[in-house]
Amino acid sequence: MTPLERALRGRILAEGPMTVEAFMAACNAYYYSTRDPLGASGDFTTAPEISQTFGELAGACLADCWARAGGPNDAIYVELGPGRGTLAADALRAIRSASLDPQVHFVETSAVLREAQAKAVPGATWHDDIESLPEAPLLVVANEFLDALPVRQFAGGIERKVVIAAGGLAFDRGGEIVETSPARDEAVSQIAKRLVANGGAALLVDYGHPKSGPGDTLQAVRAHGFVPVLDHPGEQDLTAHVDFEAVAKAAREAGASVTPLVPQGRWLERLGISARARALTKAHPDRTAEIASAVHRLCDPDQMGELFKAVAIHSPGWPAPGGFE
Ligand code: SAH
Repeated sequence: MTPLERALRGRILAEGPMTVEAFMAACNAYYYSTRDPLGASGDFTTAPEISQTFGELAGACLADCWARAGGPNDAIYVELGPGRGTLAADALRAIRSASLDPQVHFVETSAVLREAQAKAVPGATWHDDIESLPEAPLLVVANEFLDALPVRQFAGGIERKVVIAAGGLAFDRGGEIVETSPARDEAVSQIAKRLVANGGAALLVDYGHPKSGPGDTLQAVRAHGFVPVLDHPGEQDLTAHVDFEAVAKAAREAGASVTPLVPQGRWLERLGISARARALTKAHPDRTAEIASAVHRLCDPDQMGELFKAVAIHSPGWPAPGGFE
């Protein structure tokens, strides 16, 4: 039994059945605070870890948007859940070459990952939550952040809970599942309010669906494969597909503008991933095959190109970032 499972069983015995939301929150808090889960030797690999082009294009996209918004020189770079800091380092290279050298603010709860981020991006400032970010125009990136925030699940209108049954953890009910994510709605709403108040744009990239609808999307990943959700609490990554209709609604209700949702592959192609890959190949001919395979992985509809999607939210006073129309 994992240390977290022991603690969760104690909690269920003392307090009764635990909501899926509380279970997911507890598992991920433990999981991220005890390891760096990214990369071949970890549990999963994200887009910025596959190719530097991902972060570079995200950075160039924000820098272009910032320039078209009049180039306010107090704009800051913000990343939500920056992982190893790889995306930020790549994005900031592109942003600096567009003659903005922004302050860097990371929203990150994991001490282990903060350490990796400090090595990748010297001089960053960390925050436990969005609330404590400074008041300034924001250039925000969140890749595979929203999927880690907890979801509530309902079956027949009743909230689904985790119980102890037959000596193990089990769900208390099945049937058609409907998911909501108050934590996600709140994060989007907080960012959107900042954008409306001070200007700026946010790029949100994740896997998920364009329309709200029923379905159990809670999944667990360990060592690059799917595993049962209730197994090994705290030792595997729990995520749920992002309901992008709910994301857009939360952003609009806070007064922000929302772009159309586009598949990751199409978005990166519109931002010029092919040209960027050609330039990289020219500079590193020995890496030709590796660069081509990374671009294929990011863009191909059978790989990450279609399942992953991008949307931007921005202040009504700023133009929409590129690649979405
Ligand atoms: N964006 C990175 C990492 C994705 S993994 C990449 O693309 O590689 C999810 C990230 O979100 C990790 O950095 C994790 O520590 C962070 N995270 C998860 N839940 C969080 C929370 N509630 N608040 C802040 N950060 C969180």
